[in-house]
Amino acid sequence: MSYYYKISVLLLSYLLSFALFSKEIAITFDDSPRGASGYFDGPTRAKTLIKALKDHKVEQVAFFSVSKRLDDEGIKRLKSYNDAGHIIANHTHSHPDINKLSLDEYSADFLKADKRLSQFDNFEKWFRFPYLREGDTKDKRDGMRSLLYEHGYRNAYITLNNYDWYIESLFQESIKQSMNIDMDRMSRFYVSVLMEGIEYYDELAEKHLERSPKHVLLLHEMDISALFIGDLVDELRQRGWKIITPEEAYTDDIAHFETDTVLKFNPGRIGEVAIGKGQRKGLWHKTLDEKYLQQRFEQEVLSKPNLSNEN
Ligand SMILES: [Zn+2]
Repeated sequence: MSYYYKISVLLLSYLLSFALFSKEIAITFDDSPRGASGYFDGPTRAKTLIKALKDHKVEQVAFFSVSKRLDDEGIKRLKSYNDAGHIIANHTHSHPDINKLSLDEYSADFLKADKRLSQFDNFEKWFRFPYLREGDTKDKRDGMRSLLYEHGYRNAYITLNNYDWYIESLFQESIKQSMNIDMDRMSRFYVSVLMEGIEYYDELAEKHLERSPKHVLLLHEMDISALFIGDLVDELRQRGWKIITPEEAYTDDIAHFETDTVLKFNPGRIGEVAIGKGQRKGLWHKTLDEKYLQQRFEQEVLSKPNLSNEN
């Protein structure tokens, strides 16, 4: 065999393995239209986010929306996501915690959102439970399962959990205090923390399912999402991930998994699977720890870079 032949075979098998075995991930944003009075105003955030997704060839994401926030600007913001081809879905009317309401109160809030959000052409009957909590009693949990079924809804679970909302609050607080934020360092911090969590939950999935499922990433409709989603997508692709639509992600078998356990706090679908297999620790990764994030933020974004080490 000639040298070039060997090289081509190697290259081909590498490309083939990449195409066949790349891990898959869909992107979703919760809490839209989320309060915007910090770095960006609402319209600028929406414009920036839509452009970043388009520039990075992310065909479709889903916006799990809270209908109570639909003032004029909020409606315009959701309409701009809708018109860019993205999905609008149900995240309740007032973002209640199911642990604190009766089933009837919670159901009414869900139905109110269903009615108000159906004004958008790309509205889908997908429900994302606020705080991922699906009911702290069997009655509530099963009641919501029946209600979703009756109304033709899918439980829009997530597999990849993180505390991006806490990173946003660290960022906004620093902006408010007029601190000089180096946006390159901020982006590297954001991407690094999210990748750490994504890879952790993917390994947990591999451990319990013996495969990497089609993943659903939980993010929030915030300024840092608009600023850095492109960098995150680049990093994912560089590490062999393929971005898929949420529609495609929910065709995974894991969509049919229903935990028997009543959970007051829910770590996401991979965590539910792990609990079913007897795992009790490590369901919440350290990237969901505020202290951990704050320390890293201070070190990696706020501290003066150590120039002697940066060569
Ligand atoms: Zn939420």
